[in-house]
Amino acid sequence: MRYAVIADIHANLEAFSAILADIGRRGGVDEYWVLGDITGYGPDPHACIELVRRLPGAVVAGNHDAAAVRRYPLHSFNPEAAAAVEWTEGHLSDGDIQYLRSLPATLELQGFTLTHGSPRQPGREYISSIPTAGQIFEIMTTPHAMVGHTHQPAVFKREESGAVVYIPFKPGIGLVVGKGRFIINPGSVGEPRDGDPRASYAIYDNEATIIRLYRVSYDVGATQDRMISENLPVRLAARLGRGQ
Ligand code: ZN
Repeated sequence: MRYAVIADIHANLEAFSAILADIGRRGGVDEYWVLGDITGYGPDPHACIELVRRLPGAVVAGNHDAAAVRRYPLHSFNPEAAAAVEWTEGHLSDGDIQYLRSLPATLELQGFTLTHGSPRQPGREYISSIPTAGQIFEIMTTPHAMVGHTHQPAVFKREESGAVVYIPFKPGIGLVVGKGRFIINPGSVGEPRDGDPRASYAIYDNEATIIRLYRVSYDVGATQDRMISENLPVRLAARLGRGQ
């Protein structure tokens, strides 16, 4: 089976549509693993939720999704992110709200924990350092995990010796999920923060046990124009062009 691994869409319909088209061009996948933050920051939460609901596979909630349906405290966000959460709240249908409320914080599938931030604190914790990854490997109840939240593609590997290493996750390299344990972050579809504004996602083939990262160009200006016309914070629109 082939799985598309998708995180942090952030209501960016242009970016989300571009990666779905890219997956189609690559022959499609059997299922989609969506790692939360479908909403927040961007101008099209309803359309992005509708698209996610049609995909076969598994979906977990992100902190922005939970905040938009009052399941996560707004004061934990910076002022611009909080403004976007409040805007999002006003642009969800009743069906969207029910759907977001129904999403679990974590799922365990095929030897992977799927969650937004970390298995320890799904809505809160960023796995962005070797020491943090090392602690998470200790408490994980599955061999591997897929996470988002940092908006930066990354792989942490726990070697059989117990050593934890960081592996840069770049397009064009097939990473073998073989010996050892892995925490894999596919980067962000709708708001990358690694200096590359292109939408980011991964495809995992569980028979070949290989995962590959893909980056896809999309019409950033169209999303920025929509954000400005919806009076979303200008700084949130500007950062899409820089990928940070
Ligand atoms: Zn996010």
